[in-house]
Amino acid sequence: MRYFIKNGSIIDPARRIATVGNVLVEDGRVTQVDDLAELGVQHDPGGDDIEIINARGAVIAPGFVDLHVHLREPGEEHKETIATGTLAAARGGFTTVCCMPNTRPALDRAGAVRQVREIARRQSPIRVEPIGAVSLERAGKELTEMAELVEAGCVAFSDDGSPVSDPALMRHALSYAAMLEVPIMSHC
Ligand SMILES: [Zn+2]
Repeated sequence: MRYFIKNGSIIDPARRIATVGNVLVEDGRVTQVDDLAELGVQHDPGGDDIEIINARGAVIAPGFVDLHVHLREPGEEHKETIATGTLAAARGGFTTVCCMPNTRPALDRAGAVRQVREIARRQSPIRVEPIGAVSLERAGKELTEMAELVEAGCVAFSDDGSPVSDPALMRHALSYAAMLEVPIMSHC
């Protein structure tokens, strides 16, 4: 399947593109970017397997990344599930979300992280990157097994809305995080 997205405001900072133009997508990959200022008026490509999308007045950009979302699953599925949260994110142009560990149970053990990743693999249209808890139950008393959490797929650590207040614990957490080469994301 091919998509011809035309007349959109194309913004791609990584490639230093900011222009009005067309984007051709073939088999899930961008294969052509046309700058209308250079090309002038261009005719739509033909073929049965192509969908033409008029993006006049809209922005065409690489997928956004949200570093701080609350998916609420497991534990508070009446508020949000991994499926509903990631669908909403996709609708808003996000192709990756990093989910905070303030679920119930918290993402403080490898099993819980694997469970979130497995549900996301089956139900999410976008990438879900879990953030592990710094401390067990986010209680600020005892560090999680941070290496195991990274192995299970955590890309960062945070106790989210209950930031670590014990400086000694935080110092240990920062040392381990540096060793594991993952960031700690702390609420102020
Ligand atoms: Zn938060």
